Amino acid sequence: MITQVHFILTYMCTLECEHCFVCSSPSSEGTFTPGQIAAALDQTDKLGTVDTVYFEGGEPFLFYPILLDAVRQARNRGYKVGIVTNGYFATSEENARFFLAPLNELGIEDMSISDDVFHYENQKENPARRASAAATALGMPTAILALDPGASGPEIMGNPREEKTGVVTEGGIMFRGRAAEKLSPNAVTSDSQQFTKCPYEDLKTPSRMHVDSFGNLQICQGISIGNIWKHPLDELIRTYSPSSHPICGPLIEGGPAQLARVLGYTPPAGVADACHLCYLARKSCRSRYPEILGPAQVYCDGGT
Ligand code: SF4
Repeated sequence: MITQVHFILTYMCTLECEHCFVCSSPSSEGTFTPGQIAAALDQTDKLGTVDTVYFEGGEPFLFYPILLDAVRQARNRGYKVGIVTNGYFATSEENARFFLAPLNELGIEDMSISDDVFHYENQKENPARRASAAATALGMPTAILALDPGASGPEIMGNPREEKTGVVTEGGIMFRGRAAEKLSPNAVTSDSQQFTKCPYEDLKTPSRMHVDSFGNLQICQGISIGNIWKHPLDELIRTYSPSSHPICGPLIEGGPAQLARVLGYTPPAGVADACHLCYLARKSCRSRYPEILGPAQVYCDGGT
């Protein structure tokens, strides 16, 4: 049952992080309009199972009036709202309060702020920390999103701070999108045959979906189950057949290793993790499944 819809409010970002699991950058296109948010929320209303919506990116605060309006629309419809940001706007705590207070008045359930060595190197004072301090002072539920270079998956940590080194080991990085392109050459690799499970997403009975302004309804970044501007969300969810989906079916059956086999993709001798293999196999046959394997903003192959 889908209980969360994550709006990729924009693919554009202030930064171009190496660990980004899409390919956001200052020139990335694909930003929702208020009208599109309303139309998408009409669809989530109709689905009737969603209680929480997230606005994320890219960097959603880049389009602050649209973000504010989107949160207002969602709150007026009774949804709990979360936002994910890198906090770039917090050039001072006063400015951070200016950005955050109007959102706080609307009621934010989760303000997640990315603060780690990939976003802000090793600065003790950085915008994410200022945004976090301001959000906490306003009484907003706040979480720091950080990658722990020593963890085996993405971590939420209170106070991460590690030196960035040239060698990326198995940290909390998921090697898809730009992380696959930029960081995998330095990663410790393993035999691709061992990746027989998708470690992060419940592809059979998903509880959350991501949607972008192009209408792509993504079960994981870059894997669509349909387009909400062509078919309504409730219809896409109702008719989603995990086992017959050309990408999700093999992933459910035998993970990225099976996906690579089914797609006829020959992986390199070693891959960084399950997502790396999944990403490489999918990227190799994007032209075969243009409706499913997109947009370019997720595959770092020429989309802006
Ligand atoms: S293995 Fe593939 S589907 Fe699963 S989380 Fe990684 S990229 Fe997504």
